[in-house]
Amino acid sequence: MFEKLKEILDRGERFLVATHIDPDGDALGSAFALSFALTTLNKESVVYLKDRVPYRYQFLPRPARIVNELPKEAFDAVLVVDCGDLPRVGEGHASLKQMGNLVNIDHHETNDGFGLINIIDGQASSTAEILYSILKSLGVQFDFNIAINLYTAVLTDTGSFRYESTTKEAFSICEEMTQFGVRPSYVAEEVYESHPKERFHLLCLVLGTLETFDNDRIACAQVTREMFERTGTNREYSEGFVEYLKEIRGVEVACLAREVGDGQYKVSMRSKDGVDVAAVAHTFGGGGHERAAGCTIQGSIDVVKNKLIGAFSL
Ligand code: 5GP
Ligand code: MN
Repeated sequence: MFEKLKEILDRGERFLVATHIDPDGDALGSAFALSFALTTLNKESVVYLKDRVPYRYQFLPRPARIVNELPKEAFDAVLVVDCGDLPRVGEGHASLKQMGNLVNIDHHETNDGFGLINIIDGQASSTAEILYSILKSLGVQFDFNIAINLYTAVLTDTGSFRYESTTKEAFSICEEMTQFGVRPSYVAEEVYESHPKERFHLLCLVLGTLETFDNDRIACAQVTREMFERTGTNREYSEGFVEYLKEIRGVEVACLAREVGDGQYKVSMRSKDGVDVAAVAHTFGGGGHERAAGCTIQGSIDVVKNKLIGAFSL
């Protein structure tokens, strides 16, 4: 398995690791674990992160070299993790192909196979799950830094083992990572119970916008820039709000529209059994997974909501 990737890693000395904008736990955990693993193989690596690390992932051990601008140097390969398409890497993505052999490691069904080497498994719970197999086959010796990054990636991308995408490998990897000193209660507290109180001031405003449609099948809420300003918050503070909407009995699709520019909304979609939100996100130029996807839609909030309701109504 992974023969072509092994060859590239064996021959090369220096690697660039990249992941997506608005990084989540899987993006960061996979990128950091990969960089730490390359160090154990005596390879140099630089992690390219366009955006800063969100507050809830600040506790993750970070590799020594993280840059937020693309380096000018050449690399033996560019390893892109958890990105369904190359533009998701953010600024400079077009030049990545010239910087080295492009390796695409991902678990999004919608992945367009942008790499020279594509290691895609739409059945994997997380990119970290695929990476775990890769690192094992490379003979990497796991340590705490690798383990806590992989653990956090799997934990967050399975919604704490609640999503349908939760595989038995997700459980077994996490169990194995505890053997390297990862404490589940520590990670849970850092990720889920260390929010600034401003998040809840924002949540009060957002829940005030909750509406349901199509006999309560569809739940929608919005976050405006004015709400962010009023509560001294930004988009990072509203991560996970869409999950609350899905907790309503009978709701099959939850949509949270967050204002990101004039007449522009970033929409997060979640679904219970039966509705493929990735397919709908795709029609709006976005992507993701069957049960969790996203896209950007132009228009006023009413236009955005009508487009969503139209797309999801039976
Ligand atoms: P979230 O709603 O948490 O931002 O994203 C849910 C899922 O959809 C994640 O897997 C994320 O990578 C994917 N996703 C969100 N927005 C976009 C987008 O604009 N384009 C693509 N391709 N995927 C997205
Ligand atoms: Mn992921």
